[in-house]
Amino acid sequence: MRLDRFLSETTDLTRSLAKKVLHRGEVTVNGEVVKQPAVQVGEQDRVLWVDEPLALVGLRYIMLNKPAGVECTARRGLYPRAIDLIELPKAERLQTVGRLDVDTTGMVLLTDDGQWSHRVTSPRKRCGKLYRVTLADPLEGEALENAVACFAEGVVLDGEEKPTQPAELAMLTPVDAELTLYEGKYHQVKRMFGAIGNRVEGLHRVSIGPLSLGELAPGKWRELTDVEVAAFF
Ligand code: URA
Repeated sequence: MRLDRFLSETTDLTRSLAKKVLHRGEVTVNGEVVKQPAVQVGEQDRVLWVDEPLALVGLRYIMLNKPAGVECTARRGLYPRAIDLIELPKAERLQTVGRLDVDTTGMVLLTDDGQWSHRVTSPRKRCGKLYRVTLADPLEGEALENAVACFAEGVVLDGEEKPTQPAELAMLTPVDAELTLYEGKYHQVKRMFGAIGNRVEGLHRVSIGPLSLGELAPGKWRELTDVEVAAFF
């Protein structure tokens, strides 16, 4: 790639600032000062900016245990963003794989690999997302049987034409539910329980496909292993 692009990919410099830095003779390629922005460089070249080695960042795959009060958005707003918790160079390039509401806690995946993100979220891949739900009203007896059947068949949510994909509901206590979804519509869990006359008071995503949070503490993140990344290919 062109040297000015290489500089903007590996630092916070814009392309025009990269050209200025080059013009000032601050960059060396394999020990030689290079001032021409169009010079081609690759991974094999040793590029230094004021003696600081620069390296391209590859694709990144991250798991975050999102605390409440953090938003899954690229835009700056009222709340800190999920990417603000990831102390990595060029964290701005990461996108969340689907979204959790600001008050929902738990697993969020982030990546700069758009294809991988699509694989994880596409309903056709049938990648289950397990939510732990705290309900306002106890759900038991016949109402529970109806809810299990209704979610398994699919619910037509307000403003939608097609029913939701079959989902699995199990109760841990009369107010603590586990719900597995294979898609991710806007506020889906809250709307599904709303559709059966209940209300979600707490929502936590425990796992996505084969990945679970394990010991990852709220607010903490880690990179996925190669095996974890490959699980979605
Ligand atoms: N469903 C919701 O209602 N909210 C979330 O954050 C995730 C799923």
